[in-house]
Amino acid sequence: MSSGSAIRGSRIGSSPMRPDERSEPAPRRQVTYYCAAGHDSIIWFAAEAANPDTWDCPRCGQPAGLDPSAPPGRARTEPYKSHLAYVKERRSEEDAAAILAEALAKLRQRRGE
Ligand SMILES: [Zn+2]
Repeated sequence: MSSGSAIRGSRIGSSPMRPDERSEPAPRRQVTYYCAAGHDSIIWFAAEAANPDTWDCPRCGQPAGLDPSAPPGRARTEPYKSHLAYVKERRSEEDAAAILAEALAKLRQRRGE
């Protein structure tokens, strides 16, 4: 620790020109977002504003989250469906179509078409 380093940055009275009247910048804080493509993006927010859980990655446009180990793009995957379940689903659809066709055929027969 060097003593006196805190004073070095002080420039009180060192500006003979008229002082810049720009208002002080609003306090900000940075939040890092991580997307599924591996980009980490630092987004600045106003200090008093709550940052959202997800943010669109400025580099690839994918949703980016706060947790680098679980970016939102990767977490949202299709629920696993077994092959058997898929076959059953298709079968029932085909059965339903067949039943409907049969019913229509009987209806037409009754009408004498
Ligand atoms: Zn990205």
